[in-house]
Amino acid sequence: MLDVLRTLILLACLLPVSIAQAQPGGVDLDQGWQYRWGDSPRTDRGQPLWALGDDGATTDLADRWQAIGFPSNPPGRAGRTNAWFRVTLPATPMSDPVLYIYSVDLIVEVYAGGERIYQYGTFDEEGQGRFEGWPWHMVPLAREHLGQPLYFRVFSNYSDIGLWGEVKLFERSELSLYILDRSLNALVVGGFSLLIALLALVFALVQTEKRSFASIALFSLAVSVMLLAESQAGQLLWNRPLVWDYLAAGAYYLIPVAIALLLSQWLEDTRMRVIRWIWRGHLAYAVLALSASLLDWVNLSSTFPVFDALYLASSLVLFTTVLPRFRHVNGEQRTILVCYALLTGLLLVDMAVAHGFLPWGRVPVSWGALVFAIAIVMISLWHYTRIQTALRNLNRELEHKVSERTASLESLARREQIRAHQLMLENERTRRLNDLIAELQDCCSLKEGLGLFSSRLPTLCQPLHGRFYGRLEQDNTFELLSRWGDTQVGLDQAFPSLLPLPPASRILLTPHEQQASVAAVDADSNGAPALPWCLQLRLQKTERGSFVAGVLMLDAPEVTRSDPHFHPIKLFLALEHALQNLALTLSTVGLREELETYSYEDALTGLKNRRFFDGILRHEIAMARRHELPLSVLVIDIDYFKRFNDRYGHQAGDAALKAVAAALMDETRESDVICRIGGEEFVVILPGAAEFPALDRAELLRRSVSERVIEVEGQTLRGLTVSIGVASWPGTTDSPEQLVRVADEALYKAKQQGRNCVAA
Ligand code: GH3
Ligand code: MG
Ligand code: MG
Repeated sequence: MLDVLRTLILLACLLPVSIAQAQPGGVDLDQGWQYRWGDSPRTDRGQPLWALGDDGATTDLADRWQAIGFPSNPPGRAGRTNAWFRVTLPATPMSDPVLYIYSVDLIVEVYAGGERIYQYGTFDEEGQGRFEGWPWHMVPLAREHLGQPLYFRVFSNYSDIGLWGEVKLFERSELSLYILDRSLNALVVGGFSLLIALLALVFALVQTEKRSFASIALFSLAVSVMLLAESQAGQLLWNRPLVWDYLAAGAYYLIPVAIALLLSQWLEDTRMRVIRWIWRGHLAYAVLALSASLLDWVNLSSTFPVFDALYLASSLVLFTTVLPRFRHVNGEQRTILVCYALLTGLLLVDMAVAHGFLPWGRVPVSWGALVFAIAIVMISLWHYTRIQTALRNLNRELEHKVSERTASLESLARREQIRAHQLMLENERTRRLNDLIAELQDCCSLKEGLGLFSSRLPTLCQPLHGRFYGRLEQDNTFELLSRWGDTQVGLDQAFPSLLPLPPASRILLTPHEQQASVAAVDADSNGAPALPWCLQLRLQKTERGSFVAGVLMLDAPEVTRSDPHFHPIKLFLALEHALQNLALTLSTVGLREELETYSYEDALTGLKNRRFFDGILRHEIAMARRHELPLSVLVIDIDYFKRFNDRYGHQAGDAALKAVAAALMDETRESDVICRIGGEEFVVILPGAAEFPALDRAELLRRSVSERVIEVEGQTLRGLTVSIGVASWPGTTDSPEQLVRVADEALYKAKQQGRNCVAA
C-alpha cells in the first residue's frame, strides 16, 4: 500500500509538466463592453426595447450605456439587482459559432437582433429570479449574429452582478475540447486527491494513527469533491449545475474543517484551543449554510461571501496564534504550516478573484491543496513507518523477552520435575531402608541379617548395578552374596590385594581395574568418586572392635549415566548414609547375638545352660511335631559326685565336669544339643533319634565318660561314671512335652539299679 501511495505522489509531481503543455483556444471577448443599470422596458410584443437598440428618451447619464472593461460589477450598483451588458461580436468568419461564458452572476437572458437566443434561470414579471448555480454557458449563435451587438439581461441579488471569468467565441466543435482541456488539471488533481482519500481511509481503518489518517481522508475527499464538482467537465457529463454547486460548496466549506483537524493533531503540543474552535465553527457553518440553502431559506450563492469572510477571519486568527510559535515547533510542523499558508494564500487569492478584488484569472488552488495533501501524507507515512519500525522492534524485543522467560520457566519446570522425581526416589529408598531396618531388627543372627541385607540391596541401590561380598565366617573369606544387573565390577580377583581392607571409609575401584588396584579416598571429600564405587559395610563387635563385614561394589549402566535424573553425588551420599544406618542395625544384631551367646552358655564347660535348654527344647519339640520326626532326651547325672568333690577337692570336681562335657561333645552330632542344666546334671537332646538309637547313644556316652582320665594338678583320676535316663517320642512317651520328666524317672531308675548304667 505504501508503494502505491509513493508512486501516486511521484505521478502528481510530474503532472503539472504535461498539463502546462495544453494550449487554450477561442476568441476572447474582452473589448468593447457596455453596461446599463436596470431592466429594459418591453414592446407590445414583449421584446425588450434595449435589445432592439432603442435606448429610450432619457437624458439621465446613469441610464445610458456606458463602457466597461469586463461585463461585471459595474460601478454605482447601489443595491440594484438588474443590469444589462452588451458587446458587438467580431465579424470573424465562423461556420458554427457559439459563445462560451464562464460564468454569470446569477441568471441571464441573451438577445441578438431583438430575439432571445439563450436563457439561464427564470425571470419573473419584476425581472427577478432565483439562483440556479454557476455553470459555464454555451450560447448558440447564428452566423449572421457575428459582427452584430449581443445583449445580456442579468439579474443578481448576490454580491456580484454580471458575467464572470471568461467570455469567448468558439466554433461549437472546439468548445468541448477546450472545456476538457481546462478541466484536465482539476480532474487529475481531484482524482488523485480522491485516491489519497481512499487510501487514507483504508489506513485510518486498519492502522495506528487513525485520527491523523481520518483527517487526511476528510481533507483529500473535500478537495477532490470540490475540484471535480467545480470542474467544467462535470457539466458535460451531467448537466445539473445546482447539484454540482451544492457538492462544491459542501466540499469547499469542509476544507477548513479538515485543515483545522489536521493542524490540531500536528500542532497538538502547542495547545492551541483556537484551532479546535475553528474546525468546530466551520463545521457548524457548513451544516447550517447547506441546510438553510436546501430548505430554501437562503440562496446557496449568498452563503459563499459569509464563508469567505469566516475563512479569512479564522485564517488570520490562526496565523496570528501560530506565527509567534513558529520557531518553537519542529520541522514537520513547520512544513505543514508553510504548506497550509500556501494553500490558504491561494484560497484567499481565489476569493479575491471571485469577488472581483483581483482581475479574473485561474488560481491554482488545486495545486495548493495537492501540495498540502502530499506534505501531510508524506509526513504521516514517515511517521507511520517510524511507528511501525518502533512497533516491530518492540515486538521483537517482547518476543525475545517472552522466549527467554519461557525458556527459564521451562528449565525451572524441568529442574522441579527432576527434583520431584529425585524426592520420590529418595522417599522410596528411605521407605525401603526403614522396612529393611525393621526386618533386620527381628533377625536372630548376623548371618541371617547379612543374608536379608544382601537380598534387599538390588532394590535399595536402584538404578545402579552391583555386587555384594559378605564375610560370613570369622576368617577373611568374602562370599558373593548378591549380584544384580549386568555389572562388570567384581572383587573376585581383587580379594588377595584387598585384604586386609584399608582403614579408609571409602574404597574406590577405577573402571579398568578388575585386578583391584585400590585407591583410598579421603572421607571428608564432598564429591562422589568416579564410578564404579566400592563401599565397605563396617560393623562393631565387642571382642574385635570394628570389622569389615562386607564390600559393596556399584556401577551405573550407560543409560543411567545419560539420564538427567541421575545425580551421582546425591546418590552416592544417600547410599553411603543408608549403608551407615544398616551397618548400625546389623551391628546391633551382631552384638545382641554375641550377648545372647554369653547368657546361654555355661562358663565352666562351654555348654549351653538351663535357660537355653528350656528354649531349645520347646523349639525342638515343635520341629519334631511339624516334621513328624522322633525326638529323644538323655538326662545324665554324675554318680556320687559329692563324694568325688569331697575326696579330690572342688577344683578336681570342676575338671571332672569339663571332662564329662568334652566326652559328651565328642560323642554327639553337631545337630544334637548338649546342655548343663544343673550342678553335675546334663541333658542331651537328640532330634530325629528314636528310642533305640537313643539308648545306643546313651550307652556310648556312658562308656565314654567311664573311660575318661581326669588330670588335675599332676593327679590322674579315673572311675568317674554317670547314670543316664532315656526318654523317646514316640516310644517311651506319647507326649513330647513329658520327655524330660520321663527321662528323669528313667535316671532315677538307673540310680536305683546301681548307677553307671542306662535306663529307659
Ligand atoms: P548320686 O549318685 O545319688 O547322684 O550322689 P551324688 O553325690 O552325686 O549326689 P548329690 O546330689 O548328693 O551331690 C551333688 C554334688 O555335686 C553336690 C555338690 O558338691 C556337687 N557339685 C554341684 N555343682 C558343682 C560344681 O560346680 N563343682 C563341683 N566341684 N562340685 C559341684
Ligand atoms: Mg545330681
Ligand atoms: Mg549325682
